[in-house]
Amino acid sequence: MKNYDVIVIGAGPGGYVAAIRAAQLGLKTACVDRWLDATGKPSPGGTCLNVGCIPSKALLDSSLHYHNLTHLLPTHGIRIGDAGIDIAAMQTRKEKVIKMLTTGIKGLFKKNKITWFSGEGAFVSGKRIEVSNHQNDDKEIIEGSNIIIATGSAPVAIPAAVVDNQYIVDSTGALNFQTVPERLGIIGAGAIGLELGSVWNRLGSNVVLLEAKDAFLPEVDHDIAKEAGKAFKRQGLDIRLGALVESTKIDEKTGSVTVVYRIGEEMHTMEVDKLVVACGRQPITSGLGLEHIALATDAQGRIEVDSHCHTPIDGIHAIGDVIRGPMLAHKASEEGIAVAERIAGQRSHVNYEAIPWVIYTHPEIAWAGKTEAALEAAGIPFRVGRFPFRALGRAHGSGETDGFVKILGHAKTDRLLGAHLFGNHASELVAEVVTAMEFSACTEDIARIIHAHPTLSEGIHEAALAVEGRAIHF
Ligand code: FAD
Ligand code: NAD
Repeated sequence: MKNYDVIVIGAGPGGYVAAIRAAQLGLKTACVDRWLDATGKPSPGGTCLNVGCIPSKALLDSSLHYHNLTHLLPTHGIRIGDAGIDIAAMQTRKEKVIKMLTTGIKGLFKKNKITWFSGEGAFVSGKRIEVSNHQNDDKEIIEGSNIIIATGSAPVAIPAAVVDNQYIVDSTGALNFQTVPERLGIIGAGAIGLELGSVWNRLGSNVVLLEAKDAFLPEVDHDIAKEAGKAFKRQGLDIRLGALVESTKIDEKTGSVTVVYRIGEEMHTMEVDKLVVACGRQPITSGLGLEHIALATDAQGRIEVDSHCHTPIDGIHAIGDVIRGPMLAHKASEEGIAVAERIAGQRSHVNYEAIPWVIYTHPEIAWAGKTEAALEAAGIPFRVGRFPFRALGRAHGSGETDGFVKILGHAKTDRLLGAHLFGNHASELVAEVVTAMEFSACTEDIARIIHAHPTLSEGIHEAALAVEGRAIHF
């Protein structure tokens, strides 16, 4: 039986990063992952690289180029003839991006001398893992002094709209449409619904999002949710709140899906060509043999861990989507690094208070730290600085002036408590406030940092100045 210092189950952004960091620290490391691409080849990278962050952003960028071609470039005095789209080429490009990055992980495994098993990993006892090949006809038991469970998550299924992978699809199906659906329904107006809804809307679909909650993006800063809701409506996304889907019916003859949903007491019917179920994701623990080691999961099916991602069983850790906390790739990766470093005897930790969140619509929504609502609920006194992008020269130069920055500072200590952005490149801009939070900065610190002119980052500078009512350009 082969022995390792660390065995990682799952090679998503949690698992592959944990494996690399463990190997960098001199630990003898193995990683087991079962993902196969459409051609049946092993494809490490998990959800994120294969069917998540990377392919969705590839399509978001492609579709935004098309949108800009038809909507933004003419305002810059650029004339285009007949603009057209080639979905097959767009999808081929997306697949190439995935291939390049997943191949890159295989290379990193090799370079770091990580033993890589393509197949299913399951506990048989203690810290012994049975690795089965994809045909399930070749099994091997390996043992680790430490095990890191990084098995990720899968889409939540709802009985009212059962995925058939042709008419009713999950996020993976919605990343793979080969033609633009004329009428696209999406159940769930969360991150996936909004991002994939934006892709197909830009490419020409009429998109309707049915959201069960009465509020739009309730976890997001309320002003940003309001502003974003208006912007998305202008873009053509039809977001219906408080909408509970009761049933769906596929009609093969017409190639459509009839969706019956209720808003309050009123019943509604909608016919679409494709329906996407984007109602959240659930942790993957089935088939992992947790029963053989008596490792329990919580009410939401997540593996229970302490603040250092350690399970109640000595030497068994869990990270990423399979545990508590936001289902974000960068959160999974940071947990992977911290766990590997702790196994190697270092005192690493993850600062859950400074995680950036991004929704890659256009404009983008990005934030870090607390919202006003959370601060009010916690009774923490705060001051607010706001600054609109339309007051920035650079935003006018690029022709994209929507959105604003909001910065929240403690009313007494001025400590930076949160920052909320809605605007072009917000995903990149939010990094500054995350850095500031990690350094326990005050809003005054940001106000005194020199920001290049003309840039969108001046919006953060001005919002910090606005906390004390001294913004210059607004
Ligand atoms: P995963 O990436 O899910 O990887 C787990 C791996 O473990 C998989 O390869 C799985 O096959 C393997 N596995 C499971 N069980 C076993 C087993 N028994 N044996 C062997 N292997 C096993 N997050 C962001 O931060 N930014 C984004 O822009 C973003 N966009 C997204 C877009 C979409 C459409 C989706 C679906 C998700 C998106 N996410 C995004 C979320 C992100 O993908 C996840 O948070 C992230 O992938 C979680 O990483 P992980 O390593 O925990 O799990
Ligand atoms: P989500 O939790 O963000 O949104 C799901 C939405 O569906 C919620 O608003 C919920 O109220 C709604 N919903 C649930 N059941 C419903 C029903 N029966 N009818 C109507 N609405 C219903 O989940 P998601 O959008 O599926 O994304 C899954 C995970 O992937 C999230 O945790 C997210 O963090 C992650 N993700 C992140 C990014 C990003 O960071 N940019 C992008 C995509 C996905």
